[in-house]
Amino acid sequence: MDCVFCKIINHEIPSNIVAENEYAIAFEDLDPVAPVHVLVVPKMHIGSIMELDDSNLKYVQEVHKLIQEVAKIKNVDKSGFRVITNYGEDGGQTVPHLHYHVIGGKRLGPKIIHD
Ligand code: AMP
Ligand code: ZN
Repeated sequence: MDCVFCKIINHEIPSNIVAENEYAIAFEDLDPVAPVHVLVVPKMHIGSIMELDDSNLKYVQEVHKLIQEVAKIKNVDKSGFRVITNYGEDGGQTVPHLHYHVIGGKRLGPKIIHD
């Protein structure tokens, strides 16, 4: 499949991997908006948050566990961080494989990431 995140999962294109488990992978965003900007991605091609259902709930669970792990690795588990998933045109989703931005390392304003 011609999906950039599937290619990262399959090690067909390089990425800076932060952590991974059987169901999810976390890697550095190419174009960080903050000192900490990691993408956490299910290791199955799920197009967006709107494709989640009872059949892929395990991925949701493991993605969240990996987000906690990333927060500890990046040392923002105490200072705080923000998790964002974009969907659709208004949400500004550019890569059609579900992913969660984990953003932190500075005081984030009340504005959302793609404003
Ligand atoms: P979104 O706009 O929510 O779909 O976010 C897509 C994100 O993926 C952007 O923040 C990009 O900087 C990031 N991105 C795109 N290609 C890569 C890549 N090959 N490695 C790491 N991050 C990427
Ligand atoms: Zn994919």
